[in-house]
Amino acid sequence: MAISNNNHHALLLASPGMGHIIPALELAKRLVTHKIISKLTFFCGSIKTSTPSKAETQILQSAIKENLFDLIQLPPIDLTIHVSPRDTLETKIAIIMHEIPLLFVSTISSMNLNPTMIITDFFFSQVIPLAKNLNLPTFAFAPTNAWLVALGLHTPTLDKEIEGEYINESKPISIPGCKSIHPLDMFGMLRDRTQRIYHEYVGACEGAALADGIFVNTFHELEPKTLEALGSGHIITKVPVYPVGPIVRDQRSPNGSNEGKIGDVFGWLDKQEEESVVYVSLGSGYTMSFEEIKEMALGLELSGKKFVWSVRPPATKSGTGNYLTAGEEGETRTILGSNNEPSNSFPDEFYRIQTNGIVITDWAPQLDILKHPSFGGFVSHCGWNSLMESVSCGVPIIGLPLYAEQMMNAAMLMEEVGNAIRVEVSPSTNMVGREELSKAIRKIMDKDDKEGCVMRERAKELKHIAERAWFHDGPSYLALSKITHSNRV
Ligand code: UDP
Repeated sequence: MAISNNNHHALLLASPGMGHIIPALELAKRLVTHKIISKLTFFCGSIKTSTPSKAETQILQSAIKENLFDLIQLPPIDLTIHVSPRDTLETKIAIIMHEIPLLFVSTISSMNLNPTMIITDFFFSQVIPLAKNLNLPTFAFAPTNAWLVALGLHTPTLDKEIEGEYINESKPISIPGCKSIHPLDMFGMLRDRTQRIYHEYVGACEGAALADGIFVNTFHELEPKTLEALGSGHIITKVPVYPVGPIVRDQRSPNGSNEGKIGDVFGWLDKQEEESVVYVSLGSGYTMSFEEIKEMALGLELSGKKFVWSVRPPATKSGTGNYLTAGEEGETRTILGSNNEPSNSFPDEFYRIQTNGIVITDWAPQLDILKHPSFGGFVSHCGWNSLMESVSCGVPIIGLPLYAEQMMNAAMLMEEVGNAIRVEVSPSTNMVGREELSKAIRKIMDKDDKEGCVMRERAKELKHIAERAWFHDGPSYLALSKITHSNRV
């Protein structure tokens, strides 16, 4: 029996990590505020840690205050039971991908919630076979692009057809109807088939193939070819894939306590010329080394452009160690202006360049920053949320992809979308060199650069298309509304 739209109760499971929680909360908000469904309970997986993520706590608390839906935090996973301190981030993520779906299904089975549907983060799609006994329509939400979803749905086939490591393939890896993937750009979870994370991801992809629908944070103009391939049945026959992007936050920073300091940034931005400032951020999970910060500072200096740079203090070793605790309690919380005293933790060059820009070492209100008209470029690690925020604000991208699916994102924007330039890491230093960075920044931002001009125009065009996607009766709004039209709903 069909349930009227007003009686739906969705359970939505989000993955830990700001890159997943932020779009999942926004999706939940849109489902309820656009009256697509009447009731939603948001479940968030978490990890037991001595220093909880401050940014994550704040964003969840602000969602609770808005009171649009109930929010339940699943009991935290104690990783120390499963892994040793020497285990990699990938192994920890594999444990999380295994444990949270089990915990979610056992929790909802023991509660009296009377749901009418389940929506899971794509990476937790193992929920779908696990929840089969509940006999509910089940959807996946991918906070990524459609190309990564296409790869995911094709992964069980690749797993059977290709024998060795994908990254060692001599030819690009093809997905029916889609752009092929350069082996070296391969999605991080699929780079080493001996690792547990590889098998967990294949399991998640097999689960997603059983969904009643997959909602993706993209829109047609960004990925027409891939969306067509996903709709054609050549990759997967039964699962409809709906583009519902851009799903980006429409609220101010979660950390109200630093409004005053952030106000200084906006005061400074108000004094700058339109499209004259570059924004720099490598996302919530990556910590730069001392040497990387020095090289980035020199690149910004060489470019001659004004900047706002969101960066946390350097780690002895760069990397993704912070991925699961981004914005955690105890991180330095300062905005350094040109008059700040140097501290030993940053290189001298970092302080020297601050006569020409602003550095934020706290959690930055990135979307609000990008909306400011003074921005003409975004030096980004190409995390998908950052890219969607940049697209929504009409800011072209200087891509410095680092890990996960970021190399694929950068390749797609540069080769198919046309609003970005990609800067390669130098093989000798394993860093992006200052000259390459400054050249790329100037190409995007100099008004007389012809190629840059084309990319800037494309970014503006995409901004207007993105705005229309979420108008009432816009394509993404209509696509998300299909959640109540599935055969099983
Ligand atoms: N973000 C932010 N302030 C920061 C760092 C990150 O608001 O100081 C937000 C950013 O706007 C985006 C998310 O955190 O919404 C990062 O997601 P993304 O997919 O870009 O990258 P990840 O952090 O997952 O690598």
